Amino acid sequence: MDPQKTKILIVDDDAFVREMLSQILESGDYRVVSAENGADALDQYHKDSGIDLIVSDMNMPGVNGLDLISSLRHAEQDVPIIILTATNKIKIAIEAMKMGANDYLIKDENIQDTILMSVERVMEQNRLKIQNLRLRADLEEKNKQLEQMAFLDGLTGIPNRRYFDDFSVQEWGRAIRGKIPFSVILFDIDFFKFYNDTYGHQQGDDCLKKVAGALKDTLERHADFVSRYGGEEFAVVLPNTDMSGACSVAEAMRSTVEALNLPHEKSQTADHVTVSGGIGSVVPREDSELSQLISKADRAMYTAKEKGRNRIVKAEP
Ligand code: GH3
Ligand code: MG
Ligand code: MG
Repeated sequence: MDPQKTKILIVDDDAFVREMLSQILESGDYRVVSAENGADALDQYHKDSGIDLIVSDMNMPGVNGLDLISSLRHAEQDVPIIILTATNKIKIAIEAMKMGANDYLIKDENIQDTILMSVERVMEQNRLKIQNLRLRADLEEKNKQLEQMAFLDGLTGIPNRRYFDDFSVQEWGRAIRGKIPFSVILFDIDFFKFYNDTYGHQQGDDCLKKVAGALKDTLERHADFVSRYGGEEFAVVLPNTDMSGACSVAEAMRSTVEALNLPHEKSQTADHVTVSGGIGSVVPREDSELSQLISKADRAMYTAKEKGRNRIVKAEP
């Protein structure tokens, strides 16, 4: 048997009908196997993963055509099913279609032509259905990727400003509702303009990636995140963290960047790359504004610059 050919399972309790249908379908270049009743059909179907389509009689002893359809569809088997019915049993055929059969044929003198047409049509419909499902799954996957990309910074791979804007607001709302502390840290690389001037923009980019990675790796809690806030500025959100907790995190981040020991000969603070950070922390009330907390952290960061850089400054409560 040619494995490329469509394989059809014929189910009928009448040996004469099975033989007749087999001959017709084989003449249409299909591979054919057959079963005597619904139970036999289910058994064969589960043993043979190569069955592409089922052509089944309705009236059979034991497991009949409706039972067969019901069993397969309940098991989420969407193998196409064409049912055969006597002229006076159209109601049952309609019932079968409702249960998930793909087509029905009346057993009459035209069966030779109608069955080949029906098989072709049902196989084509099935092919289109599978193609459609695949395309939809692909599209969903691509959309998910795009959505993620829209929230990631292209250079460093960490969350971007848009992510910060969206998720800081969400966490802020949670802090208000839960009456729990909320902290934000702003970091800025020290003398980064001199770094670019000395080592070139390309190496400047590499430096940004390394600093972003170091800041990210320092965070331990799932809800915490660091984002690229601007050119060489990073914003960290620490939900449910008070000032003293935020201080520890900020200090750990600052020292992790320092430990990278990236040479920076034109820095007036150290001989390597350093960052300055400002922390804002609050238990927000209903009328508190996130933008005010961010401004406070920003001013604290500038104070850190003024005080000599490579340090963390807390905003006044
Ligand atoms: P300070 O210690 O006061 O922060 O000094 P600074 O030189 O770091 O501050 P300034 O704001 O003057 O310079 C920031 C520099 O960061 C200038 C800008 O070209 C550089 N920069 C911003 N974004 C990028 C980037 O994506 N790649 C590179 N290579 N440089 C960037
Ligand atoms: Mg800056
Ligand atoms: Mg800077």
